[in-house]
Amino acid sequence: MQEEILLEKLEREKILSRSQFITLLQGWQKEGIAQKVFEKAGRLRERYYGKDVYIRGLIEFTNHCKNDCYYCGIRASNGKVRRYRLTKEEILSCCRRGYELGYRTFVLQGGEDAGYKPDEIAGLVEAIKKAHPGCAVTLSVGEHPRAVYQRWFDAGADRYLLRHETADDMHYRSLHPSSCSPENRKRCLYDLKEIGYQTGCGFMVGSPGQTAEHLAQDLLFIEKLQPDMVGIGPFIPQRDTPFGEEPAGRFELTLFLLGILRILLPDVLLPATTALGTIHPEGLELGMLSGANVCMPNLTPDGVRGEYALYEGKASEKRGNADAAEDLQRLKERMEKIGYHVTVDRGDRRRRCS
Ligand code: SAH
Repeated sequence: MQEEILLEKLEREKILSRSQFITLLQGWQKEGIAQKVFEKAGRLRERYYGKDVYIRGLIEFTNHCKNDCYYCGIRASNGKVRRYRLTKEEILSCCRRGYELGYRTFVLQGGEDAGYKPDEIAGLVEAIKKAHPGCAVTLSVGEHPRAVYQRWFDAGADRYLLRHETADDMHYRSLHPSSCSPENRKRCLYDLKEIGYQTGCGFMVGSPGQTAEHLAQDLLFIEKLQPDMVGIGPFIPQRDTPFGEEPAGRFELTLFLLGILRILLPDVLLPATTALGTIHPEGLELGMLSGANVCMPNLTPDGVRGEYALYEGKASEKRGNADAAEDLQRLKERMEKIGYHVTVDRGDRRRRCS
């Protein structure tokens, strides 16, 4: 079968042509293909990361955003969200709690909040690194000038997550208002890499209008960028956005793409994302078994967690007031059941297992 040959080629050469990627993606539902992908991906995952599951403590520290992305629940023109912004003290207290629980990476994620000045974010990074010197700090706060990224890197930030969302320019413009440009998004990613961040890109699976051609372009872009991390998850509609009535992305296709990404970049840091865990009760387990090796449980305080509502029914919000310790305990048990172990580790890329 053509798809099997393409898979072998992908594993060998770590690249396919655009038309080959399209053929592979169009054939994802053919008998036995997904299984082949997961077998290869599982083997590669274990070659580099064994049975380890790296955890990152996610702190959604502000839901103010100046952007108006059509898919996102915290877009500027959504008047229904209660806006919040955690203080430096609140964030440091999340980190302290996280450290006690075994987190060695903290991810500060938020909207593009003009209320948090670049210097304040630099101050935050410095304070976290000072309190927890052995830990990694990941920022995920959108598009900024190169000098700002440099400032945060100099303050000690280790990693940066900025999903490219879609590598196709026309498709990008159909998901964002004209104030956002695909060129700037990509410029940011190249700047981040050049500065020295461990850089993560990524996309939503099944975003409105997405085709196999678009996904092929995403894979080609990722191959070219050679990121350290790739975050993908299904698109999930949020009712107060222009895409509120659009169908969600397919769970099985997301798993398939996780597997393909593991084969494309065998040592990449690949999270089973919150969105994946939201649309399927065993999303995190199946994500791991498809090639993922990272999980990002929520450390955001209960009081505001529900307000970081990028989409409907976010898994962490559904659990109501389960606290960070219970969340982590449950994750550990879920991973043990599939033979994987949550580790206390910064979880940097490329730790070859002997
Ligand atoms: N402001 C930051 C963080 C954005 S939130 C930035 O621009 O990078 C993190 C990711 O959530 C986004 O990159 C997007 O891919 C995803 N997301 C947003 N809305 C979503 C939705 N409705 N369904 C699924 N994922 C969504």
